[in-house]
Amino acid sequence: MKCDPTLYRAAPPSLAVKPRLIRHLFLPPLVIALMIGLGYLGFWVSEHYGIRSLSENGQRQLELHARAVESEISKYTYLPSLLELESSVSKLLDDPSPEHRQTVNEYLEGLNRRSRSRAIYVMDTTGRVMATSNWRDVDSYLGEDLSFRAYFQHAVRGQPGRFYGIGSTNGEPGYYLAHGLEEQGKIIGVAVVKVRLEAMEERWQRARLEAFVSDENGIIILSSDPARRLKSVIALSDETKEKLARSLQYYWFPLNELQPLAREKLAEGEEKLTFPANSEVASDQEDISYLSQTRPLSDTPWNFTLLTPLQDLRREAINQGILVAVAFALVAFLLIAWNERRKVIATRLAAREALQEANNQLERRITERTSDLRASNERLKGQIRERRQAEETLRRAQDELVQAGKLAAIGQMSTSIAHELNQPLAALRTLSGNTVRFLERGQLDVATTNLKTINELIDRMGRITASLRSFARRGDDKGQASLGKAVDAALQLLGARLENAHLQLHREFTDVQVQIDQTRLEQILVNLIGNALDAMQAQPLPQLWLEGEPHDGKYRLRVRDNGHGIDAEARKHLFEPFFTTKPGEQGLGLGLTLSASLAAATGGHLGVEHPANGGTSFVLSLPLVSPLHAEPI
Ligand code: ADP
Repeated sequence: MKCDPTLYRAAPPSLAVKPRLIRHLFLPPLVIALMIGLGYLGFWVSEHYGIRSLSENGQRQLELHARAVESEISKYTYLPSLLELESSVSKLLDDPSPEHRQTVNEYLEGLNRRSRSRAIYVMDTTGRVMATSNWRDVDSYLGEDLSFRAYFQHAVRGQPGRFYGIGSTNGEPGYYLAHGLEEQGKIIGVAVVKVRLEAMEERWQRARLEAFVSDENGIIILSSDPARRLKSVIALSDETKEKLARSLQYYWFPLNELQPLAREKLAEGEEKLTFPANSEVASDQEDISYLSQTRPLSDTPWNFTLLTPLQDLRREAINQGILVAVAFALVAFLLIAWNERRKVIATRLAAREALQEANNQLERRITERTSDLRASNERLKGQIRERRQAEETLRRAQDELVQAGKLAAIGQMSTSIAHELNQPLAALRTLSGNTVRFLERGQLDVATTNLKTINELIDRMGRITASLRSFARRGDDKGQASLGKAVDAALQLLGARLENAHLQLHREFTDVQVQIDQTRLEQILVNLIGNALDAMQAQPLPQLWLEGEPHDGKYRLRVRDNGHGIDAEARKHLFEPFFTTKPGEQGLGLGLTLSASLAAATGGHLGVEHPANGGTSFVLSLPLVSPLHAEPI
């Protein structure tokens, strides 16, 4: 039983393969691109909000530390103006005698010690140092001309002098606060306090704070990182650089620019700066980013800048980005896996449904085919019944036909029979009438001869009717006969004649079972052998051959003699009833006719051959019972 192949036919390749191929080609790059995109977004959001949070915190820190710087500076703001109140100072400026100078030197020395400033000194209006707290030191300012200093120039004009610079005497940096000393509304000199602010740097370092203070020129004057000190935070023109160099404000320092790799303005006073890694520390270090928050310091033209490193934040943001990317990858993987599983389940379900459908169809077909088979079986049975009935009818019809054939043959023969019987009857009538007359006349010998002839005629008539009766008898056409037994019986019946003939007999046949009644076969053989003996009467060395061979489901027996043979004219009438060449009462002319009819009634045949070397050969062909091997006799 065949299944419908269309049920399992796959979709055309062009339709089934393409979307799958596209999916396989584009899905992985898409997932990777989304992973990178979302990872970067996670990183950006984390960094953005981190910076905002750092900025809020930084503002507080900025305020705190800026105030600390302001208070540190303001501590000394009024110190130079205090010298106005000191009479010895005005005396010195009035009369710069050695005694006055010494008095002021000692006074300033004591004041400087108490105020913990770096130096305090007094200049006249020409900028020459008249007295100083460090008068004992070798590099004392005493007698120096500092008129070029900006703080002096401001102070001598009555303006507050604020100045950060590196000392021209000893190269020491310091914050200079100058004040014009007035007497009766006239400036008679300038008082200067030099303060060192390095303590603040140390404090920042201890607090691990990254901060710097830049002055009005944009030069970093204080920095937690010494490397940044005396670097400019803004680009300086060559002219400005030259001017600053001439002023010796920063001694001979080159005033390089503090160049960040990247600068991103976030808000007013707020920037993101990226500096290159310190290659001296470690070559493989990453660039360092800072959140830079700047605020002006009150009472000064300076700015305080707080730097908050963004490395931790950046690291955190990278981690967040990686986390987002990994989370997305996981979700994407789960989604793809879920989708694949859904598809597998769908395919399995579809296959199961298709299988179920095919099964149902198969069952339907089996049922249909079974009912068809049952119907055809019934039809076949009916046909077999009909065939058997037909065979039975045919067999009966055949029997009837055989019988009818026999009767027809008898019918055909009836004229000859009537003729054959009428002749002896007429002769009998004449003979019997003559015999009565001869008896009345007393001629007994003639009457006796007549009576003998009458007997002979009656015998002949009896033989004719006996032959016809046995031929016409119904029934045994389908019997079985043993050829060997039939030959033996026929030879026995003809025993006396055989002996007289001194015949040489050749038995070259097999004892087979043939489909004919035993007696009828004997009858046929008696006729054929009898005719052969008649034909060989004049033969000095009579020979009879009984040769047999199977042929096409039948057995052929040749009864051949070396007699006188049959002439051409006689050959035409051999099988006609009552044809005989035998003289007188010897032949009836029924032997061959009846033998041929008996053979034909069993499905066999009787024919004649005329061998070239003389004699006659009758060929009896009869159906074998079983066309198997037979024993030669
Ligand atoms: P019958 O023997 O009574 O004559 P058959 O029908 O047996 O009748 O034979 C018919 C004729 O066929 C015979 O008269 C004879 O002429 C011829 N005939 C039959 N057998 C042979 C034979 N073996 N050799 C020669 N002639 C034969």
